[in-house]
Amino acid sequence: MIVDVHTHVPSHVNAVPPEEEILETKMRPDRPLRITSSHDDFFKAMAPVDRVISFGIAMPPDRPAVIGEKEARKVNDATAALVARAPDKVIGFMSVQPDLPDALEEMERAHADLGLRGLKLGPNYQDFDPLGKNARRVYAKAQELKLPVLFHQGTSPIRDAPIRYAHPLLMDEIAILFPELRIVMAHLGHPWLEDCLVVVRKHPNVYADISARFLRPWSFYNGMRYAYEWGVMDKLFFGSDYPITMPQEDMDALRHLKDFTGQYHLPEVPQELLEGIIQRDSLALLGLS
Ligand SMILES: [Zn+2]
Repeated sequence: MIVDVHTHVPSHVNAVPPEEEILETKMRPDRPLRITSSHDDFFKAMAPVDRVISFGIAMPPDRPAVIGEKEARKVNDATAALVARAPDKVIGFMSVQPDLPDALEEMERAHADLGLRGLKLGPNYQDFDPLGKNARRVYAKAQELKLPVLFHQGTSPIRDAPIRYAHPLLMDEIAILFPELRIVMAHLGHPWLEDCLVVVRKHPNVYADISARFLRPWSFYNGMRYAYEWGVMDKLFFGSDYPITMPQEDMDALRHLKDFTGQYHLPEVPQELLEGIIQRDSLALLGLS
């Protein structure tokens, strides 16, 4: 079974009107990125995977939405609407902004009424202190409701998103405080790959996803080689960060890493371990089977 653990709910339900198309030029080094897409675009891109985790990001009122809706209720409703299109394939994660007074209430609603089964947080995008009191309340609620939490980790080109809020070493402290909480650190914590992987190694319930890492080939290679040397290949999850990349691209990159190591005469990463990332039953590890 192939699971894509990291996708963003498409910006539009129906076909995107040409005047609403948004092209982004910093996220992909190889080509401009169309960040707007429809439900149909999403399902077409997800054809190569069996199951998919999808979410939006609830932004604070004074920040522009990255894509799509801002308010947590609307973000979570949009996720539930995507799940309703293919409930056997899509698992929806909720998002809340921990500093807003209704964050816990919205978590209850998204869990009980919408059936969302995990939580997506991006402390840099959402501008909250990941070790602060409000955030800890949200982690405690997630632990109680058995919601795995997928954190954006590492850098981002969004100018007003504080990078230090997304440093992987902060996750170590969260995992110490909430040992039962299942945590997925996105993007191998790029560019702090080793910082991310040593946190993954330490904590039984902390994992990392490889989504969109192949876009920087040297960094991708190092991430895979570090994971191998630190013995944590079996804690890496497959993901695409749709619409940033398509799952087929991430799969191809894992299967062709050997071309890169061959070309530059680099120490290899065993192919069966790279294939293991693609085939990993991450839903079982996250308690979502
Ligand atoms: Zn993402």
